[in-house]
Amino acid sequence: MKYMYINGAWVNAASEKVRDIINPFNQEVIAQVAEGDAEDAKFAIAAAREAFDNGEWSDTPGAERGQKVFRIAELIERDKEELAELETLDTGKTLEESRADMEDIAGVFRYFAGLADKDGGEVIESPIPDSQSKVVREPVGVCGQITPWNYPLLQAAWKIAPALAAGNTIVLKPSEITPLTTLKVTELMEETGFPKGVVNLVMGPGATVGNELAESHDVDLISFTGGIETGKRIMQTASGNVKNIALELGGKNPNIVFADADFETAVDQALNAVFFHAGQVCSAGARLILEDSIHDRFVEELKKRAERIKLGNGFDEDTQSGPLISAEHREKVENYVEIGKEEGAKLLVGGARPENPELQDGFFYLPTIFTECTTDMRIVQEEVFGPVLTIERFQTEEESVKLANDSIYGLAGAVFTKDIDKAERIAGKLRMGTVWINDFHPYFAQAPWGGYKQSGIGRELGKPGLEEYTETKHIFRNVNPEPIHWFKA
Ligand code: NAD
Repeated sequence: MKYMYINGAWVNAASEKVRDIINPFNQEVIAQVAEGDAEDAKFAIAAAREAFDNGEWSDTPGAERGQKVFRIAELIERDKEELAELETLDTGKTLEESRADMEDIAGVFRYFAGLADKDGGEVIESPIPDSQSKVVREPVGVCGQITPWNYPLLQAAWKIAPALAAGNTIVLKPSEITPLTTLKVTELMEETGFPKGVVNLVMGPGATVGNELAESHDVDLISFTGGIETGKRIMQTASGNVKNIALELGGKNPNIVFADADFETAVDQALNAVFFHAGQVCSAGARLILEDSIHDRFVEELKKRAERIKLGNGFDEDTQSGPLISAEHREKVENYVEIGKEEGAKLLVGGARPENPELQDGFFYLPTIFTECTTDMRIVQEEVFGPVLTIERFQTEEESVKLANDSIYGLAGAVFTKDIDKAERIAGKLRMGTVWINDFHPYFAQAPWGGYKQSGIGRELGKPGLEEYTETKHIFRNVNPEPIHWFKA
């Protein structure tokens, strides 16, 4: 049984409720965790409030805060194999993916550790004689941090590392489905040694724990990664005390391939763009936008390769893709496939559960491709968050951009072509937070990540990822104070 971490102690849920954590590969119970609710969230928020207000952590010099955050990275490095195995057990993703996640995660902590003492503020030119003006950045305060199930620890790291580096106190709420690696890293943060109440972990449902974090007037910032509908609800709830708000929401990301692209690279990357982690990736390239003249040859090759993707246990070396996260999520994907068919999209491959008897206990779904898709279809516009690719065609550069931008989302997109001027023109026109040229998926701690349009508000990673966790203050000083006699004495 795993407990929550509140005010420097491991505690049971006030209600004593427990949740089983399930392995999506075989539905076995892999752990039991305390299942908190709003009451537990209130305790954690109060602890984080007290810890912030007493100033012990927020007044700690940046260099020292950086050392602590760096220490978390070292402990993650030390325990990375255990963490990777836990992530694979909890999410079903391949061990190779989980190992890569852990390397990235350690890198995120190292990056923000390095930034902790780099912003000493700025002296600005004051237009008022005999005065001095400076601008400083201060921590925001108590941060509620809510994460999804697809990259449980990675998404948590993007929030924890900058928040602590900037001197905030935090209440973490991992997805109720996949809390195990966040739990383990909370243990590593305890080992690192923060003042009581700086780091708090409350597990439990979004409707109770998450809602309390969004609603509480003692929380100064809510940082959320998850679905668009939840994001909208959090935005409304957070308005009660006009909290700072950071939202990383979904995507329906276009991948534009021109006839002059390197064929082999573009096919290979198009497959990886959408079928990596069974498509459960916010930046999945789920919309392939193909130049007409290569359409048939490209589609034929994609079909062959999609059929060969080896589904299986994330711990087996030859597995290329694991299961979906839950029965409920697989039903959502299946429902979208039905919608696609009804809308007139042509099912090219997949569109069913695998028949392999060894996969029947897991939430598997075959890599699926639809051709003859148009932008008015829901299967093209809505985030399926599964192994489902839609293919549209274009003839001109303008048309490719118009199709790609025809979306409520604006998280990421890619263009494949050997014509670099064309690629740059298109990159400039795509309304997205990240554009890849002749590649798909790279992200790293140094570069900001986030969405245009309904894909979110704010940025994680990079320098903006730290700024998100700071307030900006202007301090003005009169160096020759004397009465101004606006009102007579
Ligand atoms: P979700 O919105 O269902 O849940 C995300 C988190 O919010 C969970 O911890 C959940 O418990 C909590 N939550 C649910 N209802 C809540 C409420 N009313 N108040 C407060 N918290 C609440 O999303 P999910 O299914 O876990 O994750 C998949 C989604 O996450 C996809 O849409 C995906 O695109 C998105 N995502 C985005 C990014 C990004 O960087 N933009 C990264 C990963 C995932």
